[in-house]
Amino acid sequence: MSIGQMKQKFIDKYGESGQEERVFYAPGRVNLIGEHLDYNGGYVLPAALEFGTTLIVRPRSDGKINFASTNLPYEASIDFTEIGNEKSGEWIDYPIGVMVELKKKDTPVSKGYDLLFHGDIPNGSGLSSSASLEVVTAFAFLTLEGGDTDTVEISLLSQRAENQYVGVNSGIMDQFAVANGKRDHAILLMCDTLEYDLVPFVTGSYKLVIGNTNKKRGLVDSKYNERRQQCDEALSILQKEIPSLSYLAELTREQFEEHQGKIVDETVRRRARHVVEENQRVLDSVEVLKNNDLKQFGQYMNDSHDSLRDLYEVSCVELDIMVEEAQRIPGTLGSRMTGAGFGGCTVSLVHEDDIERFISEVGEAYTTRSGLVGEFYVCGIGNGVEELKGVK
Ligand code: ADP
Ligand code: MG
Repeated sequence: MSIGQMKQKFIDKYGESGQEERVFYAPGRVNLIGEHLDYNGGYVLPAALEFGTTLIVRPRSDGKINFASTNLPYEASIDFTEIGNEKSGEWIDYPIGVMVELKKKDTPVSKGYDLLFHGDIPNGSGLSSSASLEVVTAFAFLTLEGGDTDTVEISLLSQRAENQYVGVNSGIMDQFAVANGKRDHAILLMCDTLEYDLVPFVTGSYKLVIGNTNKKRGLVDSKYNERRQQCDEALSILQKEIPSLSYLAELTREQFEEHQGKIVDETVRRRARHVVEENQRVLDSVEVLKNNDLKQFGQYMNDSHDSLRDLYEVSCVELDIMVEEAQRIPGTLGSRMTGAGFGGCTVSLVHEDDIERFISEVGEAYTTRSGLVGEFYVCGIGNGVEELKGVK
């Protein structure tokens, strides 16, 4: 939907008021490489996508905040003084959670507004439509209410909204990438300290193709907790050898090879190996991207998938099939699962001339082999949250 069409919908819903409508936007995100490293003190390398959540907003004089989305039928009208009093269990909990956090930060929403959201990120497939919704809300209201729009602060505030008000326990990567992304750049982020660096990632004639397996995720939480436990176990064994070690991802490959024999449990050893090698792959990726060596980066993507499948064991049949079929296409430089695993999406780097073939051949083979229908989204790397000024 164009901004013009969205503005028309806004007027159809709320009418003209003489007050100015303003337009804000926040993207979705994909993690390019660096999986299951955030809780191991390692780096991640996400990027903001070229699709996201748009918000049109206009002040009202009667103190009501009206919520509507083109994506979902649920609507609500709540007095600004009553924001956060009651959780609805509906999508509005995300923007309301943000408003609750704004109040805690002494930049409360101080009057009524009409809001219309529109998202073109597929919901619930791991491309962070929730973070996008939170971040666009936070940025818009800090702008409108005269607060500080520091994008690192916005990501932290949005994460707290999701963790505390919505009640979904998620790390900082999603909100951080959505708030701080930059066109043609990946974000090298240390989740622990929030140190970050924008890494040029000019894909040129290559595009990111995101493949949604549409596999319903089961057992994700228990498997996730099990992985965390195994990493803790490996860490405490290795800390006896290297007392200064505070995270697994701090180990160099050489240190790991020297001490890994101390980890008796073979499964735990494999988990730790993934963490050490994947973290090194992220850093190596940054180096090759600086030289625009997309081919080598693609190889690291493939290696990352192998490691997640064989060492960390968080892939699943559907992800493996989609990645395998993607890697068969001649114009594919690399393909891997992205996100926590056990379902969700793959990300591939594909030459633009081969994208049509990619989508039809990978899609067909995926359905034949898995019995599920995959979906594919082609996109470039876009900007983080911003106000869209002068856009018709
Ligand atoms: P993901 O973040 O991976 O897309 P989540 O389950 O974390 O998946 O978030 C999806 C939820 O976020 C949706 O079910 C909905 O409640 C909310 N949401 C996201 N985008 C929109 C939108 N444009 N309009 C209304 N609700 C949205
Ligand atoms: Mg989410």
